[in-house]
Amino acid sequence: MARRRCRRERLTVVEADPIDRNLTLQCDIAVIGGGLSGLLALHELIEAGIDAQLFEALPRPGGRIASVRDQVSGAVIADLGPTWVWPPYQPGVTRWMERLGLRTFPQYEAGEAILDLHPYSPPLRQFLPGQHGMMRVEGGPQAFVDALLSRLPPQSIHLDSPVKGLSHNGDHLVIFSRDREIHARKVILAVPLRVAAQTIALDGLVDDRVLTLMRNTPTWMAAQAKVAILYETPFWREAGLGGRVASRVGPMVEVHDNSPANGSVGALFGFVGWGAQDRRDLDLKVEIRQQLIRCFGPQAGEFIGMEIRDWAFEETIATAQDQTGEPAHPAALPQFMREPLADGKLHLAISETAADSPGLIDGALEAGERAAKWAMG
Ligand SMILES: Cc1cc2nc3c(=O)[nH]c(=O)nc-3n(C[C@H](O)[C@H](O)[C@H](O)COP(=O)(O)OP(=O)(O)OC[C@H]3O[C@@H](n4cnc5c(N)ncnc54)[C@H](O)[C@@H]3O)c2cc1C
Repeated sequence: MARRRCRRERLTVVEADPIDRNLTLQCDIAVIGGGLSGLLALHELIEAGIDAQLFEALPRPGGRIASVRDQVSGAVIADLGPTWVWPPYQPGVTRWMERLGLRTFPQYEAGEAILDLHPYSPPLRQFLPGQHGMMRVEGGPQAFVDALLSRLPPQSIHLDSPVKGLSHNGDHLVIFSRDREIHARKVILAVPLRVAAQTIALDGLVDDRVLTLMRNTPTWMAAQAKVAILYETPFWREAGLGGRVASRVGPMVEVHDNSPANGSVGALFGFVGWGAQDRRDLDLKVEIRQQLIRCFGPQAGEFIGMEIRDWAFEETIATAQDQTGEPAHPAALPQFMREPLADGKLHLAISETAADSPGLIDGALEAGERAAKWAMG
């Protein structure tokens, strides 16, 4: 018991440092949004010797990429945001992983899956096919964020700096953050499109057709709640199970093995299938524990940590529309969403604007790289 408590104390959600606060700032290029696309754009600009600064609303960088870390070693032990990449179909992911020195490993899928189909009958065991090309990243997708942060000067990143508005001022744009103005020649907006349309006053910088698409484009996975459950070991593997669950009972509709590559702990992750408002009113941890015991046996109730990240209620990621809308993978947006706006001073760079893999990690890399190239042009 003491050991379990000790392990619990070692679990922590990634958070970042507090920030400096100045009243005015000038830079050549400003990046708004410190998710993967914004960080990658900043990386490219800084590497090219450009005076670029990034403004992120939250006190932590990474956006939809968030993780549970071992508090002692700092190692990522489970994902609260994305988990998978598909290198055979995502050349951008492969190229960036090589550039940042990251490695993939296969999703653990040996063993049978659990079909949890009826509330009153025991779950079934059955082999389910995996997805071709689906891989995990050593250190989780968090490794992309960590690698970029390790290459960026800390003073170029302003956390806890939500942007409230943007405005023209002669040959530059003015950014209004909570407690300061930033003057920049060009601005990269790497904020979920709906969130940007609703929370940032754009002062006529984008026309109606762009604004309409911004409002109508769902943010991929913004409606989801993801659960990470930690164990001393991936005990299900010894029982011939792959850690996978497909459920019609819930609360989790999908569960997968999320154990780190080195097997230092056992981890499962699940997606909660119940609607955002419904799941808010429940004691989710209790319901999830019951489901785990039903599917994997009593040992599954003895987890050393459980972390739930409900993205639907993260105000810098999801809007009310995302909470209620049907989950739908975004289609590629028209080319004009990838073109410069505001007389060549503004460019959208969120994953959902990518021509390939919109909404995915691959899309975030593409969008960040495209925006940085534009800014350097
Ligand atoms: C649960 C979940 C599972 C996923 N699974 C996968 C997967 O397996 N594989 C995959 O490829 N993709 C997956 N994705 C999608 C992937 O995480 C995203 O494509 C990627 O992280 C998007 O990065 P981004 O920088 O474009 O956007 P975001 O990560 O959304 O970054 C936007 C940033 O803008 C900031 N911001 C918002 N408003 C303001 C403001 N006013 N001022 C300043 N900053 C602001 C936000 O705080 C955030 O940091 C998943 C996402 C989630 C949530």
